Amino acid sequence: MKNINHHQIIIIGAGTAGITVAAQLLRKDKNLDIALLDPAQKHYYQPAWTLVGAGTYKYDKTERDMKDLIPKGAKWIQKAVQDIDPDNNLIKTTDGSEFGYDFLVACPGIQIDLDGIEGLRETINKNGVCSNYTDPDYTWKVLQEFKGGRALFTLAATPVKCGGAPQKIMYLADDYWQKTGVKKNTSVLYAMPGSTIFGVPDFKKTLMEVVDRKDIGLRYFHKLTKIDSENKKAYYTITKFVGEPDKLIYNDKEEFGVEEISQEEVVIPYDMMHLAPPQSAPDFIKRSKLAHQEGPQKGWIDIDKSTLLHNKYPNVFALGDAAALPTAKTGAAIRKQAPVVVENLLEVMKHQEILSRNYDGYSSCPLITGYGKMVLAEFKYGNVRDSDPLISKFVDTSKEKWSMWILKKYGLPFMYWNLMLKGKA
Ligand SMILES: Cc1cc2nc3c(=O)[nH]c(=O)nc-3n(C[C@H](O)[C@H](O)[C@H](O)COP(=O)(O)OP(=O)(O)OC[C@H]3O[C@@H](n4cnc5c(N)ncnc54)[C@H](O)[C@@H]3O)c2cc1C
Repeated sequence: MKNINHHQIIIIGAGTAGITVAAQLLRKDKNLDIALLDPAQKHYYQPAWTLVGAGTYKYDKTERDMKDLIPKGAKWIQKAVQDIDPDNNLIKTTDGSEFGYDFLVACPGIQIDLDGIEGLRETINKNGVCSNYTDPDYTWKVLQEFKGGRALFTLAATPVKCGGAPQKIMYLADDYWQKTGVKKNTSVLYAMPGSTIFGVPDFKKTLMEVVDRKDIGLRYFHKLTKIDSENKKAYYTITKFVGEPDKLIYNDKEEFGVEEISQEEVVIPYDMMHLAPPQSAPDFIKRSKLAHQEGPQKGWIDIDKSTLLHNKYPNVFALGDAAALPTAKTGAAIRKQAPVVVENLLEVMKHQEILSRNYDGYSSCPLITGYGKMVLAEFKYGNVRDSDPLISKFVDTSKEKWSMWILKKYGLPFMYWNLMLKGKA
């Protein structure tokens, strides 16, 4: 006999992915027995945190009570998952309760690892070291209080959610300092672990024009390892010896004050710093059998990149930030992943294994380049541009547009709360 904690479908995480999937499933069949496991009181519309960090959106508008978002017909179990035993279809929560399931959808998001960089935990959200990932209100404070000098924007060498966010806030900060006059005595530098500012050529071209216009310096293959907040210095390891200097440094300037310790190590001084901290799949996922055990995707949930079904467990699906998918981790990606999970899950439930829906890796990054300006980067697996055909008829989304800014600031939040989380988009 099934124990009382058994559910036909358990969804781990009631974030963007969990609520959307639950809502879509219940629209298809209101009799499904669905439980959402999530300890959080609040749910956040994180994409607007970029705007909060630039003082053009209120943080409290990004926050809603979880209880008001759980779709009617789904059961919310306000507990945190401790361990998953997929061989026995069992979940243990941190208070010792156990839950059984027939089918599992795992979407617990991403974990911020403040211990991944020496000195980060002690200094984040103070001393001029800010992050829209942890406290966008503090970012706005830092931008306003900055009196000029060295402004360093950077990111960790792990996958992060919305990989464009660390540069969007840089363009907004630059724009703000232009308006307040602080830019005159400021040098802006972006140090990144990758080899390019953006992977898709059409969007990269526009962004490099923005970088030139704003006179921003770029440093590639730079892995942030340590922050010395007392002396306001950031330590980097150079991850690749590239030979030609312009593959490593773009628009170098003496004002940046970069100190070369060796061929592999540099120190960059800063007066303010914005960073995307290291991130990884939640610990309970990493130590479970759902995660890749080895290889570059180690720790992320091991699913088929097309059907989103687990590669070893035929009753488990995953999506969102915790899934091992070779595309950008965004809410926009989830909008396209959710219907694939929903259709394929219903097929697996009815017919064991027909999986007719495929996800092509669609993701999108609303690249804000200043107040009132945005490039809508849409792409799929392989960094192939995939712009919406309808929008593209009227707007060249690879260019900076005011209409796309309006979409970001007003259209997308409306769509998120009223359509996506209701299972309608
Ligand atoms: C600064 C910033 C800017 C961004 N900009 C954009 C953008 O412009 N466009 C865009 O599309 N996306 C953007 N994103 C990314 C987007 O917000 C995420 O990709 C998306 O929210 C991920 O959804 P998710 O459901 O996977 O995780 P989340 O929405 O983060 O939800 C995860 C849920 O899992 C729960 N959970 C965690 N641990 C447990 C546990 N042990 N047990 C049970 N539940 C648990 C959490 O409480 C949470 O409710 C941005 C993010 C940030 C931070």
